[in-house]
Amino acid sequence: MAGPSNASSSSTYTSNTRSKKIKSKSKLDFANPCDCGYPSRIWTSTTKDNPGKEFRVCPNSTDNPEIKCKFWEWVNEEDTVNKKKRDEVRAQSCEVRAQSCEVRIAIMDHDFNIYKKKTDEEFDKIIRKISSLKTYVIVLFMLFVVSLLRA
Ligand SMILES: [Zn+2]
Repeated sequence: MAGPSNASSSSTYTSNTRSKKIKSKSKLDFANPCDCGYPSRIWTSTTKDNPGKEFRVCPNSTDNPEIKCKFWEWVNEEDTVNKKKRDEVRAQSCEVRAQSCEVRIAIMDHDFNIYKKKTDEEFDKIIRKISSLKTYVIVLFMLFVVSLLRA
């Protein structure tokens, strides 16, 4: 009955063999979070195949291996630069989009003002027409009454 705890801890160690091959020095990378959303931890590889090469892992792989995610990638300077460039381009296109949106709103606002002006003018014309029509109707009515009285 005391066996399982021993077994689980030893399996944790075997699944964590990668950390045995690396130096103890590490740094946190806030720009590239792991799948858990934590800043990834950058280690330097000491393996024969990739000596001195940096890689990022879930910070939990050392602090709390039982809840670590599968996040793991080489730190590639080019990748980081490319990612920064991509982010910049994305930010720029966002800015451009926001600007074109502003321009569109300004145009719409302008068009609306013109339309509103036109509508107001049309409305004024209609009001004037109606009032002139009213006087015309009143005059007609008066003429009608007068003609009735004369008859
Ligand atoms: Zn993680």
